[in-house]
This record gives sequence, C-alpha cells and structure tokens, in this order.
Amino acid sequence: MSYYQPEIECADVETIRRVQSEKLVKQVEHVYKNVPYYRDLMDKKGVKPSDIRSIDDLHKLPFISKYDLRDSYPYGFLAVDKSEVVRIHSTSGTTGRRVIAFYTRHDIDLWEDCCTRALVAAGADKEDVVQIAYGYGLFTGGSGLNGASHKLGCMTVPMSSGNTDRQIQFMQDLGSTVLCCTPSYAAYLGESLKASGISPDDTSLKIGIFGAEPWTEEMRRNIEKSLGIRAYDIYGLTEISGPGVAFECSAQNGMHVNEDHFIAEIINPDTGEVLPEGEKGELVFTCLDKEAFPMLRYRTRDICVLTREKCSCGRTFIKMAKPMGRSDDMMIIRGVNVFPSQIETVLIQCGYEPNYRIEIDRVDNNDTLDVFVELSSEGFSDTVREITAKEKDLSNAIRNMIGIGAKVHLVPIGSIERSEGKAKRVIDKRNLHD
Ligand code: ADP
Ligand code: ZN
Repeated sequence: MSYYQPEIECADVETIRRVQSEKLVKQVEHVYKNVPYYRDLMDKKGVKPSDIRSIDDLHKLPFISKYDLRDSYPYGFLAVDKSEVVRIHSTSGTTGRRVIAFYTRHDIDLWEDCCTRALVAAGADKEDVVQIAYGYGLFTGGSGLNGASHKLGCMTVPMSSGNTDRQIQFMQDLGSTVLCCTPSYAAYLGESLKASGISPDDTSLKIGIFGAEPWTEEMRRNIEKSLGIRAYDIYGLTEISGPGVAFECSAQNGMHVNEDHFIAEIINPDTGEVLPEGEKGELVFTCLDKEAFPMLRYRTRDICVLTREKCSCGRTFIKMAKPMGRSDDMMIIRGVNVFPSQIETVLIQCGYEPNYRIEIDRVDNNDTLDVFVELSSEGFSDTVREITAKEKDLSNAIRNMIGIGAKVHLVPIGSIERSEGKAKRVIDKRNLHD
C-alpha cells in the first residue's frame, strides 16, 4: 500500500483529534480577528474565541451558508491582506451566483497535498502519465489535479475539458495511464472510444479519478468497463479548497476526508443539530489551516453519511459515502423527495447508458415527471409495441425505486446532450411558472 503522507493519513484517531483541536483554536482566533462578518455572527451567538478549546467545542460556532458568502461578496470573508493572495477560483455556479475563493501560497500547497494523496491512494506514482480533462481556469478541478500531478512527479497532460477527438488522440499517442475528469465526461469518452472502434485494451489507461458531481455505483461499473480502468471518486468544493477534500482509496467504498485540514460534521439540515456517525444529513466542513478563505462550519448542502470504520487501506481518516446529491438537487415531486441519482441507478440496472434527462412540470396542479433515455440503434429496430413495452418496464422500475410513476421516453442515441464538465440532467419547468 502506498501513501503520500503516511504519518498523518494513517495516524491513530487520538493524534488526529489532537491535531484538529490545536489547529481549530488558532483558526478561530484568526477568523475572529480578521473577518468582521464572522466576528458579528459569533458575537450574536455570544461565543468568544476563548470558548473554543478543542474540537468538542466546535458545535458552539455559528454556521456559514452560501447566503453569507453572497452577502459578503467578494472580499467579505478574505482573512488576510490582499497582497498575500496568489490565486482565486470560483464555483461553477451550478446553483446560483458564483462564490469566489482566495488562496495564499500556503493554501495552494495544502490543497495540492490533498489532491496528491488522492492520486497516490488510487495507485498512481511518478511513472504515470496523467491526462487532466477537468476544466482549467476559474473551476478548481483542472488546477487542483494539475498541481498534484506535478507534486507526484507525473508527466502531466493539461488537456482541460472538451475536444473529445483530441483527448482520444493524446491518450493514445502519449500512453496516458491516469484520466481525471467529471464522471459524465468519462462516460462520454468511453462511448466515444467505442464509436471510434477503439477497445479499452488499445489504450494504456488504468486509473480514473472522477468527481465534481454526483455519480452512482452503477455508473462507476459502467465507466470501468468502457474505459478498462478502476475508477475512483474524489470530492471537494471551491469554498473549502477544491477537489481533494475527500478521496477514495483502494477499497472503493467511500472517501477519506483529509481530517488534518478539514473537520467534517453531519447535521440535520432543518434544525442544525449535529447527527451521530452513520446518520444521513447535510455535510458541514471547517477548514483548519487555510489562511485566506477559512470557512468555519460551512454548510455544503450535500447530503451524505460519515463513518469511521477500519479501512483495508490502512488510512484512519473518517469516510464519507458518495453524496446522494445536494439538498437543492432534491426534487419534490407530488410531495415525494427524489434525487436524480436514484433514477440513474434504475436506468443502469435496467441496462441503459447513463445518458438521460429528467423533466418536471406541473399540469392542472399535478406534478409530472418525464424521463428521457437513449435506446441503442439495435433497440430502435424493434416494433413500436416492443418499444412501448420497454418504456413501460422502465417506468415500473422507476416507480419501484422512488414510489411514483414517470413517463419514460426512449429516444435515439446521441439525442441527449453530452457533458464535458458537470452534467445538467434536470429541467424543472415548474420554476419558470413562479
Ligand atoms: P458549484 O457548487 O457551483 O457546483 P463547485 O465547482 O465548487 O461549485 O462544486 C462543488 C460541488 O460539487 C459540491 O458541493 C458537490 O455538490 C459537488 N461534488 C463535488 N464532488 C463530488 C462527488 N465526488 N460526488 C458528488 N458530488 C460532488
Ligand atoms: Zn481506505
């Protein structure tokens, strides 16, 4: 088993807690002193930095939400002098106005360490050729993995996203062994390889590091097969640093949170109450040693579960399960909570590719749910009756999973837009009405 920083990645839990406590005390002082917005939040709650003596006091601190970041846009949470900042990144704006995050040289360094741990945990070393097909620029995906690939001494191929023909050509010409991109783009690359008549055995790829959006176990198996690799999940968000807040190891069953840099909590999103390990809720992060943009108890709106079990890889960091999606991705259809990932699971289980679009509307005060899924060209040689029967089967399978029926439309291959970055799969027309 290889590790990048084994002394901390495999430290005993007491050591991790001690490191966290020491860093937390200093971080709260730093934020209280340098971020008036958060000082006000603490004052309103009647909490002083001296009240925070260890991680057991974490729950006393106020939360930060995306709304706070929007209110204080752009510099309100900057905790160092502007002259100390060496870079900015911003969120993809998937769910609203972009958030801008700031980094000192030290912040970039620790973020790249986190991503390097991810590369090593997936089995990469300096002999690898790392093709990075995450977007570069304001998005954190490209830069984070790029820095990590440098740190590890890999040959780094900074493709950025898109231009699929060129991706495949470079992959073959250079013998890329590691691919980093969103899972939806990985699926598309797999599909494009097949369409070009290239078998997975004709490439040198062996490892995929995919994240930045929710994806299911079914999708993982699908991508592993189409690209002939082992696919690992990586999680992160701009506000906390970027990809690498948590990463998957050889066990491929959850992501280790880099706990020497970030404390993870799960809360009840309605009450803010901290939930015990193993319970599902909203993920909250506290940055322990970031200087420029140190979030304390930042509410991610991602829904998932944390567990601390002995892991076969030897790491002791707590693990987060694959996030089901964001609380704001959750669709409430006829009063039932539905996540796109549940529908994705059904589609792949029923043998379809993960190319789909979900449309929700409201007709005569009734919510409607339409799912568009691609059917292979061979499928379209069926009779209309056979296609209708397939649509019905899929609709029943969806009902079994989410409890409500959907109208399924099988559409020709290629008719659903492919994504080079984060896929947009849900169109909620109801929002247009209000
Ligand atoms: P935006 O919030 O605008 O998309 P980011 O680019 O910072 O901005 O994306 C961070 C978000 O992406 C996370 O909060 C989470 O919802 C999602 N995300 C990132 N990695 C994963 C992953 N591995 N699995 C599921 N969701 C992920
Ligand atoms: Zn592990």
